[in-house]
Amino acid sequence: MSIAAERLERLHDLASAAAADGDDERARYYVQLARRVAERNRLSLPKQFRRFTCDNCDRYLRPGSNARVRLQDGHVVITCDCGAHARYPYEG
Ligand SMILES: [Zn+2]
Repeated sequence: MSIAAERLERLHDLASAAAADGDDERARYYVQLARRVAERNRLSLPKQFRRFTCDNCDRYLRPGSNARVRLQDGHVVITCDCGAHARYPYEG
C-alpha cells in the first residue's frame, strides 16, 4: 500500500473517531484533509470514506447521530443533517 493510501486510512480512522466523539468540526477537518491527499495523489477515497462523508458539507456521517439511513428500492439513502442525500446500491 502506498504512503498516501495509508494516510487516507489513518485519516478515515481519525474522522470516524472524531465523529464518534460528537466533534463534527474535527471530523470535517480530517475529511477535507483526506480529500486533498486523495486529489494530490490521484487516488479516490476508500469506499467506506466516500459513503460516510457528505459531498455537500464534508461532515463525517454517523447514522443515528448526524445522518439518517433508509432503504429504498434496493438503494441505501443517506440523508445528512445539512439536507443533502446520497444514494448507493444496496450490497447485502
Ligand atoms: Zn451534509
